[in-house]
Amino acid sequence: MWGMAGVDEADKLDRKKAAKVLRRSMSLLGPYKRQTVVASLLITLWTFTVLAGPFLVKYGIDQGIVKHDGGVLDRAVVAYVFVAIAAYIVYRLQIMLVGRIGEGFLRDIRVRVFDHLQHLSMPFYDREKAGVIVSRMTSDVDALAELVQTGLLMFMANGLLLVFSFIVLALVSWKLLLVCLVTLPFVILSSVKFQRDSNKAYLLVRDRIGTTLSSLQEGLSGVRVIQAYRREDEQVRRFTSTSRDLYNAHMDSVRISAWYLPVIEFSGVFTTAIAVGVGGWMVHANAITIGTVTFFLLTLSNLFEPVQQLSQLFNTVQSAGAGLNKLYELLDTPADVPERLGASELPADGAIDVDHVSFRYASEGAWVLHDVSLHIAQGERLALVGPTGAGKSTLAKLIARLYDPVQGQVEFAGVDVRDATLASLRRRICVVPQEGFLFNGTIRDNVRIAKQGASDDEVDDALRAIGVYDRFSALPEGLSTEVRERGSRLSAGEKQLVSLARAALADPSVLVLDEATSSLDPGTELLVEDALERLMQGRTVVVIAHRLSTAERADRIGVVDAGGLLELGTHDELVTAGGRYAALYATWAGRMATT
Ligand code: ADP
Repeated sequence: MWGMAGVDEADKLDRKKAAKVLRRSMSLLGPYKRQTVVASLLITLWTFTVLAGPFLVKYGIDQGIVKHDGGVLDRAVVAYVFVAIAAYIVYRLQIMLVGRIGEGFLRDIRVRVFDHLQHLSMPFYDREKAGVIVSRMTSDVDALAELVQTGLLMFMANGLLLVFSFIVLALVSWKLLLVCLVTLPFVILSSVKFQRDSNKAYLLVRDRIGTTLSSLQEGLSGVRVIQAYRREDEQVRRFTSTSRDLYNAHMDSVRISAWYLPVIEFSGVFTTAIAVGVGGWMVHANAITIGTVTFFLLTLSNLFEPVQQLSQLFNTVQSAGAGLNKLYELLDTPADVPERLGASELPADGAIDVDHVSFRYASEGAWVLHDVSLHIAQGERLALVGPTGAGKSTLAKLIARLYDPVQGQVEFAGVDVRDATLASLRRRICVVPQEGFLFNGTIRDNVRIAKQGASDDEVDDALRAIGVYDRFSALPEGLSTEVRERGSRLSAGEKQLVSLARAALADPSVLVLDEATSSLDPGTELLVEDALERLMQGRTVVVIAHRLSTAERADRIGVVDAGGLLELGTHDELVTAGGRYAALYATWAGRMATT
């Protein structure tokens, strides 16, 4: 999941994009407007305290030491100490405040993205790999966190310090400043080169970390197969090679720092020498005071250090910008199954009409359903049978509007499901997947997912309605049994029962069922079948039947193959017709007879 951050243009932000990201971030900072203003004031104040120190030193030297005025010297020293204390307090406050704004911003972004992800529809999850989505939430948010936690404050503080120091130095002695600036072009050019090179190296390191991690993960998760075929050495060889690549990438960035940092250090020292030499000469000529020279010595570092810090921070800022851009793109992904403006409530009950529906998953992909039409009467049970990959699940998903047809339409009670509110649609039509996902929590919690705020009594009634209440309450901890992660404490049959109880609690008028294929012990099998039978009572049911016994009990059977509805009729009709279903049934009945 890290590997996708390659050394490519996707990680870079052009100016237009960066401006957009900045604008959007500003608007997201809305709730923190007051805090942001206060933080900016604090940072400015802090810059002043940093600059005030050298000023007081200059004052103390020129007016106190040189003029032998003990009172002035004392005042300068006391003021200096006060400024130091003020700087201490302001610095503390600004770290706290910037941290609070930044972390709040991060929290908002995380929640917003998660909220959006939870509302995106199935086609999005078909397109995007879960790993990539998780990496949006981890590495992209991490890149931001790095900026927020350390970088942002330093970035702003250094920027201000650079500008103010320049102004102050120019005001005190623009002539001396001009001389001292001979090294600045050199520093700026080196910094620009450093920033470019180190950004490249940084992206390369990130890419190689991805490769190393994925090779590590593969080696660990595949260790059984690796050992079974004695491929350990081969794996170690591969890991050694990716590790070497990572080492080389890191060394690239070390080499870049190794020429840059000493250059900056040297420029600083060289400039100090100029300040002392030229400044001293100017003092001799009575052009400036000795305090001014000292002021320069203390303040010049405020020019050089920020340049260095800013160029080092640039990567953090840039990758945070790129991360934000990706997060914003994710937030801008529209829902594929949107609710239309002015969508209406679906009627409580009605027939389902599939009207000349064609469908494919990807816009350029192969057609999965071709021109399927089907009428399902209210209260009818329709079983869909057919080989794997025929399109049964796809048809079921279209009926439940997990996807929208590419051509044609699906109607419930005469209303195009695209015109219905999503809330009423999900209330009327309930999908029971083959393997119901169980969340961490108790059995009751897991059933309650079907209906927000349902009371314990309602949950119990749902369990009773499908005849499984006794089964669960007989457990040592009854309905409060923790199912643990993904229901690891429950048997396969019990998981299916929880899934059916959910549907019973939701109490929809249409059930779209994907029959579970996992084989159960005969006792549990009967219990599940009985629960299913009760659940289906009085509802319209579309069931993807994996057992012909289920099909046999349905009112009508649809045989799906190669994306079309091949046969449609009652069990007896289809057996008499002697087509595909009859053949399937004959094989199955023959097998049942021999076992
Ligand atoms: P069935 O339920 O009859 O086994 P499906 O409706 O699941 O068949 O699948 C029909 C075809 O659509 C298959 O070729 C399958 O590979 C393809 N398909 C199913 N789900 C997706 C998906 N989410 N994205 C792309 N293709 C899919």
